[in-house]
Amino acid sequence: MTAPDVNLQALEARLAQDLAWLELPAKSWVPPQYIDDKRVRDVVIVGAGMAGLVASGMLKRLGVDNQQVLDRAPSGLEGPWATYARMRTLRSPKQLTGPAMGLPALTFRAYFEARFGCEAWEKLDRAPRLVWMDYLIWYRKVLSLPVENEVEVQAIDPRPDGLLALKVARNDGVETVFARHVVLANGRDGLGGPFVPSIADAIDRKFWAHTADEINFEALQNKRVAVIGAGASSMDNAAVALETGCARLDLFIRRNDIPRVNKFTGIGSQGVIHGFAGLPDEWKWRFLDHTIRAQTPPPRPSTLRVSQHANAHFHLGSPILKLEEKGGDVVLTTPKGAYDVDFIIFGTGFQVDLLARPELSAVARYIRLWRDRFAAPEDMPNPELENSPDLGGSFEFLEKVPGSCPALHQIHCFNFPATLSQGKLSGDIPAISEGADRLARGIVRSLFVADRERHYAALIAFDTPELLGDEWTDADAAVGAPHAAA
Ligand SMILES: Cc1cc2nc3c(=O)[nH]c(=O)nc-3n(C[C@H](O)[C@H](O)[C@H](O)COP(=O)(O)OP(=O)(O)OC[C@H]3O[C@@H](n4cnc5c(N)ncnc54)[C@H](O)[C@@H]3O)c2cc1C
Repeated sequence: MTAPDVNLQALEARLAQDLAWLELPAKSWVPPQYIDDKRVRDVVIVGAGMAGLVASGMLKRLGVDNQQVLDRAPSGLEGPWATYARMRTLRSPKQLTGPAMGLPALTFRAYFEARFGCEAWEKLDRAPRLVWMDYLIWYRKVLSLPVENEVEVQAIDPRPDGLLALKVARNDGVETVFARHVVLANGRDGLGGPFVPSIADAIDRKFWAHTADEINFEALQNKRVAVIGAGASSMDNAAVALETGCARLDLFIRRNDIPRVNKFTGIGSQGVIHGFAGLPDEWKWRFLDHTIRAQTPPPRPSTLRVSQHANAHFHLGSPILKLEEKGGDVVLTTPKGAYDVDFIIFGTGFQVDLLARPELSAVARYIRLWRDRFAAPEDMPNPELENSPDLGGSFEFLEKVPGSCPALHQIHCFNFPATLSQGKLSGDIPAISEGADRLARGIVRSLFVADRERHYAALIAFDTPELLGDEWTDADAAVGAPHAAA
């Protein structure tokens, strides 16, 4: 057995002890429900990335253990970290406790130190991307979370009895899973997909990719590659293309400057985490509109990773005006010139497009977005915010027309687009435990209220005495008691 294994085992033993001292997880308490002898899941979580794992952990901690976490990705390949993320390290500071749910032995630092030692921690700048993925794999193992991989949730259909029927596809066939609540922890693109400007329609699909695609960078060796955008993913993709040996890399940036200040992260505090959801709508809008307009800068190491290459060219003030195919190349036109390129990578982010998600097709048209209820201030139009889902206090969808689809209240949107309603609690690392806590408490409350008759019946039926009746005597019961009233 190697030293890191021993240290990890010691950490796992400590975590088990901590949980035992805290009496966690709490005892199971949700009364079972069945449909045709099949157990109804209290909660099904779609997605076993960071958000799905911590949501599962929080629910388990609160005694909701009849749950399933389903992910279509193979085990260890959930989320972006070991798939399309191309940065060397995370952007986040290494100290963030992220999904640790307040448990010291569950932090990334505890994990890292057990594997690599305290000295390595001191020397570490940011979490290496794949070590972060290893941590998430370890996290799910030590909490014994009920994750099933290579299982895709293809549809979520409300039933007349108030339950949700999920069409779940495995390698060996399709099954229906019944659930009382569904948590969508399905990622950055969970309510839509990658955003690519329509200008890309002018060229064949073989000429471009989005940063979230699988990209064969070897095939780009000795080619002229254009990257659109100056966000973190644009920079990381540009860097990989350069490192893999592209002939020339042109980075086209719409603005005249690259954003330099990370606004919302900069004001991060417990106040923002717990207070944002309490803001009046206009103020939520104001905060996020300002943040979105300012944009998030790419990390400095990622930018340097690109600019150190002599064949990397930054073009500022260069929105794409036209794309056209010409003699097997693509000609890309900006206000500053026309460029022949062989391949384009769009780092243009993600968008909400409910109809793009098959799993939401039965409910999409009933889901209330902010634009359905809130008139954007005239000086702050913002399509991204307008398309955000308008959520309730435990991340649940609400209906565009009250009464049209009550089951929406049992579908919880625990992904990035929830930010306008709930604050930044459901996408990034910093406050994911607080988000999961809010989510899990809301689900617990809903389950308890829904089962009130059964809990009340349990109250009536409960008759285990604490006192046996032999602990005292009734002073007045004895005949001829000296102090009895005459
Ligand atoms: C490249 C990149 C770098 C990032 N770096 C940082 C960083 O440094 N710091 C930070 O705080 N945040 C970062 N983020 C943001 C955020 O932390 C990540 O996006 C993180 O992965 C979010 O976790 P998640 O669980 O919400 O989504 P994901 O990790 O994407 O997990 C979603 C899971 O849902 C599964 N899924 C989706 N639909 C279905 C379905 N129908 N059925 C079954 N499974 C389904 C997917 O397979 C996926 O595994 C980064 C994001 C990206 C894209």
